[in-house]
Amino acid sequence: MDKLYFGPAGIPNSAEKRDLLNGLKTVKNLGLDAMELEFVYGVRYNPRVLPLVKEFAQKNNIVLTAHAPYYINLAAKEKEKIEKSIKYILDTARVLNELNGYSIVFHPGYYMKRDPKEVYKIVKENLAKVLEMANQEGIKVWIRPETMDLPSRFGSLEETFELARELGTLPCIDFAHLRYRYKNNKPEFFRQVLEKYEEYFGKEGLKNMHIHMSGINLDPRASHKNLKESDMPWQEILDLLKEFNAKGVVISESPNLEEDAIMMKKYYG
Ligand SMILES: [Zn+2]
Repeated sequence: MDKLYFGPAGIPNSAEKRDLLNGLKTVKNLGLDAMELEFVYGVRYNPRVLPLVKEFAQKNNIVLTAHAPYYINLAAKEKEKIEKSIKYILDTARVLNELNGYSIVFHPGYYMKRDPKEVYKIVKENLAKVLEMANQEGIKVWIRPETMDLPSRFGSLEETFELARELGTLPCIDFAHLRYRYKNNKPEFFRQVLEKYEEYFGKEGLKNMHIHMSGINLDPRASHKNLKESDMPWQEILDLLKEFNAKGVVISESPNLEEDAIMMKKYYG
């Protein structure tokens, strides 16, 4: 990627017509240059609008990413649930690939009281299948496990990075999730995250980042909040991204979506 692109997680709140194409037009009018397609409640879309979305994104140099369904659990105990999880990820990747998009993210799964090492093996085995099938289909978009918030969820920093490296993909860094999981909002902590990322994925990895940003509530639900109402050192994090020469996409998952995306883009310059 040639720079950092900024955009909302989903159709902007201010978009009057709630469809992908109008969402994208709103993104452009707001001066943003990325949008994440939210398939979190299912991979549903109007197939007729896809060519128009693709054309509009291409023409206006807007980077498209996508978020796979929340129901995914690559470490499920039932074979059926694993197969469905694999399908959800592939379906998300297929749509984004058709749009000539950049990168998709998914939540890997749950420990369900098992040994994290055991769960790691299961997730790895199943993600390997996903990547193999995507490769066979000629899917070009990144397929990334995301760093997760709750301790019951697979997706610590180490697990996510190790998994991605072992399978030759890249992780999605969700800074709010990390702030929650490690109970740390010091800029020094986020510097260590980026140092580790560079150690694992090198300068190439830094050129191809997929980042989620928002504030986060420190309650058991870990719900997102707007950056200014949170304790996220978002300016320092953006300074760090500049210092590390990070390129790729920063997606705002704050409730105000585009407002924080605009605020970050303006600050970043
Ligand atoms: Zn997510």
